[in-house]
Amino acid sequence: MKTKQKNHEVLWGLEAMPDGLPKAQGYWRQLHETGKAISELHDFNLINLSALEKYDILENAFGSDKSILEDEVFSLKAGKVKAALRFSFRESVLRSFIDNKLAYFAYPLKVFYSGPVFRDVVPDEYFLRQFHQIGFQVVGETDPIYDGEVIIAFYDFFKSLKLNNIILKIGSSGCHTCRGAFKHKLQNYYRNKLKDVCKPCARNFDINPFLLLSCDHEECRAVRSEGPIIFDYLCQSCNNHLKSVLELVEDNGIAYEPDANLVSTSELNNRTIFEFRTPEMPHPLAFGCRYDYLAEEIFKRPIPAVGGNVGVERTIEAMKRQNIEPRFKSKPKVFFLVIGDQAKKGALRLMNKLRLSGVAVVEMVGKKTLKAQIKTAERMGIRLALLLGQKEVFDGTVILREMTSGIQETILVDKLVEEVKKRLNNNND
Ligand SMILES: [Zn+2]
Ligand SMILES: [Zn+2]
Repeated sequence: MKTKQKNHEVLWGLEAMPDGLPKAQGYWRQLHETGKAISELHDFNLINLSALEKYDILENAFGSDKSILEDEVFSLKAGKVKAALRFSFRESVLRSFIDNKLAYFAYPLKVFYSGPVFRDVVPDEYFLRQFHQIGFQVVGETDPIYDGEVIIAFYDFFKSLKLNNIILKIGSSGCHTCRGAFKHKLQNYYRNKLKDVCKPCARNFDINPFLLLSCDHEECRAVRSEGPIIFDYLCQSCNNHLKSVLELVEDNGIAYEPDANLVSTSELNNRTIFEFRTPEMPHPLAFGCRYDYLAEEIFKRPIPAVGGNVGVERTIEAMKRQNIEPRFKSKPKVFFLVIGDQAKKGALRLMNKLRLSGVAVVEMVGKKTLKAQIKTAERMGIRLALLLGQKEVFDGTVILREMTSGIQETILVDKLVEEVKKRLNNNND
């Protein structure tokens, strides 16, 4: 029982803000490298956004629904300004777009970013108080081609990770013209059926009827299957927009499922909404939508935009459940063994020489004995070690040791970089 509790604390951290640990660095690096590669291929520009956002920006971003703002946003004072830890990236993207006049840099602006997001939720295995996202956003265009570009970028991202059975669902949230009519139908349909749905759904009906579309309870699914669907209520231009997006995705040979239940609960999101899932995970790995009304609501500026985010922790978990090892391979390393205090200084100089020439060097020159150093090198699976003692410093040589065979050879310091590179390359073949 005690062990279980301990594991729980280690896993979630006391505040459900777990650290990404060195043992998982292969996954983290691979996700970031993949994001970077996709952003380059698809021409998204890297943007680094502050983890603090002005509180009133978030306040406006929630529109009339202030419950999430009060419950889930971490607020704090930053100087005299009321600020909040980043709740989501897109408000900050829009704020930066306006503040820094990024329209002069590119229009539409395509950005890529990564970093932590903070939400004061009741944590569980899938919902943390701090989690990480990698995202792509396009600011300044209503054209469905950009919805398509964003979806394709995410698809390529998951494909590059070699994830299997990727499920892409695409829906529509309509617009100010057509969404209202569907909402009305939905309310009429459910009003007399609240006794047939689960308790949370019955409660949610008055708060936001769109919440009932995503409930997974069996009885709610059964009620929903007879209900109205938004595809039947889309206005002509929303319908055309959706059709164009689906055609773009199809043209690129990407399988998708149109999903009538995928409708945003926020009035500030419109038209395209999409998610990427894998069967092993109960929640989407990536989610995105169009949000043409958001900038108007926050900044009183009509700036259309579309984009989405990958959940880093969830994607790593999906890779683990599919037994996909991270392909991010670190450089082959050499281990520098040092004997005696006299050799330390010379060792540091030689290590630096190697590092400047692009060779990764591991050392443990502290107080460890030679035996302990060799053990560590063996545990790390390192195949090439360099050995430096007082005699070698005096002679201007280094001993080169093949770790598996134990064969040693003395080489001149001048030939060090050349010899090490030659052997590392041979080892790699
Ligand atoms: Zn519409
Ligand atoms: Zn329900």
